[in-house]
Amino acid sequence: MSKVQMTGSFQWMKTLNKSTILNTIRLHSPISRADIAKKTKLTPPTVTNIVAELLEANLVRESKVGTSQGGRKPILLTINDRHSFIVGIDVGGHLIRAVVTDLNAKIQAKCEIELPHELTNSLLLEKIKVVIHDVVKKSSVSMDKVIGIGIGMHGIVDYLKGVAVFAPNFQLSDIPIKEEIEGHYHIPTFVENDVRALALGESWYGNGQGIENVICINVGIGIGAGIILNNELFHGQNGIAGEFGHVIVDMNGKQCSCGSFGCLQTIAGGAVLRERALQSEQNQYLLQKVHNNAEDINGALIFECAQEGDEFSVQLLAETGRALGIGVTNLINLMNPTRIIVGGGVAKAGEYVLGPLRDVVRQRALTTQARETEIIESKLGDDGTVIGAATLVLKDLFSPQISS
Ligand SMILES: [Zn+2]
Repeated sequence: MSKVQMTGSFQWMKTLNKSTILNTIRLHSPISRADIAKKTKLTPPTVTNIVAELLEANLVRESKVGTSQGGRKPILLTINDRHSFIVGIDVGGHLIRAVVTDLNAKIQAKCEIELPHELTNSLLLEKIKVVIHDVVKKSSVSMDKVIGIGIGMHGIVDYLKGVAVFAPNFQLSDIPIKEEIEGHYHIPTFVENDVRALALGESWYGNGQGIENVICINVGIGIGAGIILNNELFHGQNGIAGEFGHVIVDMNGKQCSCGSFGCLQTIAGGAVLRERALQSEQNQYLLQKVHNNAEDINGALIFECAQEGDEFSVQLLAETGRALGIGVTNLINLMNPTRIIVGGGVAKAGEYVLGPLRDVVRQRALTTQARETEIIESKLGDDGTVIGAATLVLKDLFSPQISS
């Protein structure tokens, strides 16, 4: 927990038995008091007392009447999703996106602001405050109803301290996001790498629900991953677990933005896709589309042209898919997840990329089962990271902590 004075309701909701009961209602709603007692192994009087407190606080609602198993029909309980709200933020390379969600991660309002080219730590922190203010205002939720702020930040993040250690797109380091935002709003704030946040969002509300071991990869200009192991986000010793774009796939390969050579990011991902399109002599169809302004060629256009039947664009996307397939095969052999979820800009090309990607996995993963690992698109799409950022708060809120 942070040093700042937390809002009363967040602390209050997080006491051990309340969190346990709230999470049981969240997962099994609508549910009776008797079934809560069975699932939590708390005594029925304890459940009744805590549920009474939760009802009094309007955090839980009595809903429909359940089916009777002999005696009186039980009254079923659900979470009052609109009791409190969360702010979720995605700090990308060029803009900050923000949402306000309810306690079920449903988006109530959205907004985004563009970032200037020249940024400093303090200017970036100011911009984050502006977008929080704007999105809460737009949602018509009063600020005292906001019980937590979650922030997904690109680059290397110390999630325990809430510090952006290095943000490559801004060339900024050691940005004390948590300290600054909590100091300003006095609301618990959680900061995480953007792809790790996306993976958590998919795990709770997207295509990773109910799956213990799932990996979410994000393929945009760069490539990252979030690893969910046994339902928990895996960080490794220093929080770099999931830097999938920097897995080395070619010992003699090209130099990567990280300084190393032959990283996956040097053969796959949005930047390479674009570069290949620009360098080839077969790009007439693409060039014609942008009236010979080669600078305007991007992943979205290549996808559009592939859909229109331009064979060169189809081949470019397939090449990206095959290169990603090499990385994904390594990932499967290393971690053996149940499912791999693919998100980010390049994933929007759908089967043009995913088909060739799966072909490589089917040919090259270690065992028959590994070759059949499910590889699907993200469910949350463009909202994945902001919902994931909000999930950082929801996860903390609904996870019982022995120490509280
Ligand atoms: Zn690298």
